[in-house]
Amino acid sequence: MSESQEGTIRCADCRFCRQFKEVNGATGRYVLKVRCARGGWQVGRKLGHTDWHRLMTRRVRKCPDYDSMSDNERDRARYLCDLAATLPLERIVYEADGEPADIFEIHGIDLSTE
Ligand code: SF4
Repeated sequence: MSESQEGTIRCADCRFCRQFKEVNGATGRYVLKVRCARGGWQVGRKLGHTDWHRLMTRRVRKCPDYDSMSDNERDRARYLCDLAATLPLERIVYEADGEPADIFEIHGIDLSTE
């Protein structure tokens, strides 16, 4: 088990951190979220989850189930750095076919400047 320099573990590097789609049953649109497959993010009786774009904020002080996907600390740091650089800045809503949804169109917002 390896821990970051601040003494915390980033779940993003753990093999039990899983991405999933939270689907709106009425529209088929979805957003990407992440959860801990070992139930490590339990909030009371519920299993917690985090928006995909906020993945880097998910960290724990200690976790007996932590299992890094990286071979060494250097790979781990590089993986986390690359991940941080490629995560979206905000939540993206996707259409059922995987294309990003046009939020302005969904909410009827007209951005024309006429
Ligand atoms: S097993 Fe622990 S370190 Fe891994 S994702 Fe779950 S809470 Fe985070």
